[in-house]
Amino acid sequence: MTNSAITRVMLAILVIATTCDLVPLIKAQSSDRNSAPGSAGEPYSNMPAIAPIGVRIGKYLDVPTSSQGPPIDPAKGYRLQKLGDGLYMVTDNAIQSMFLVYDRGVVVVDVPQNLAAHIPKAIAEVTDKPITHIVYSHSHADHIGGTKALGIHPIIIAHEETLRLLKRDADPNRPLPTVTFADKYTLRLGKQVLELSYHGNAHEPGNIFVYAPGQRVLMVVDVVFPGWMPWRRFALAQDIPGYFAQVEEIGKMDWDTFVGGHVARTGTHADVDTQIEFNRDVQEAAKTALATTEFGVGLNPADKNNPWAFFDNYIDRVAGQCVNSMTPKWSRRLAGFDVYIWDQCYSMEQTLRIE
Ligand SMILES: [Zn+2]
Repeated sequence: MTNSAITRVMLAILVIATTCDLVPLIKAQSSDRNSAPGSAGEPYSNMPAIAPIGVRIGKYLDVPTSSQGPPIDPAKGYRLQKLGDGLYMVTDNAIQSMFLVYDRGVVVVDVPQNLAAHIPKAIAEVTDKPITHIVYSHSHADHIGGTKALGIHPIIIAHEETLRLLKRDADPNRPLPTVTFADKYTLRLGKQVLELSYHGNAHEPGNIFVYAPGQRVLMVVDVVFPGWMPWRRFALAQDIPGYFAQVEEIGKMDWDTFVGGHVARTGTHADVDTQIEFNRDVQEAAKTALATTEFGVGLNPADKNNPWAFFDNYIDRVAGQCVNSMTPKWSRRLAGFDVYIWDQCYSMEQTLRIE
């Protein structure tokens, strides 16, 4: 059914609803002992084998070997990976931070809560120089909420939107940036360089690209997840069309190593290409499902005056068809497919309908 056809159905429903006396209907339902609040009914036809949101998955799909990273030393609790001259990634194989050593100090990019205690130890493995600068990739607490715990007062650089959001959030664990920029900022320290740039809203306003030209490393957080499905609803992207465009932009840029801020390993251009292919496939799957799913099929006639019920029933069946079309090709290609495919399909049908 096309969007205009849906609109016509909606208008018809609203006309019916406004010409009926709704109060007696609600009373009638509440006095009906068979109509428990939200009672579950028959599953939709062609229901995917992967459990929908809110239903327990007995055993999640195994994580493909290619999605796993090098192991963590349990005695340390973190892993230090050299990315190039003076540039390192620190990770617990779930979240990632990066630091750059220059002749007089160290620049840290992101201080996740879970790594705050590990970062000074990781730095001490390679230098005794002090942390002089922190760069915030964006405002989210899981990436910079360990900053205060470091107990130091370095220069903090971030995008101006990040400053705005952090003022609003007023979280003492995320001290305000002391230096902000709008488009580009080059941090040049001795022979080391970090190029910070803003490419618009995708994940959230103020989320920046951090490029180390000497080491050919690009860090963009919460956009591409090497070897893995993005976190639910495209990692909570605040602008989903902007998010898709940003993944493609990362794919076209010139770099050798990608740091995504999450999961167990760094990424390659092949990982970004896989993400682009997944994004295009899920868009196509949701587009086809939207175009071929009939409105109102199987809806209880007693719900005929409830437009939200019509959409819930329709959108559930669109998402189910999207999950079914994605499963054969992707279920064993990206780790966590079964965890988040329903979320991605729900998110996709919404963005295609209204954005
Ligand atoms: Zn984030």
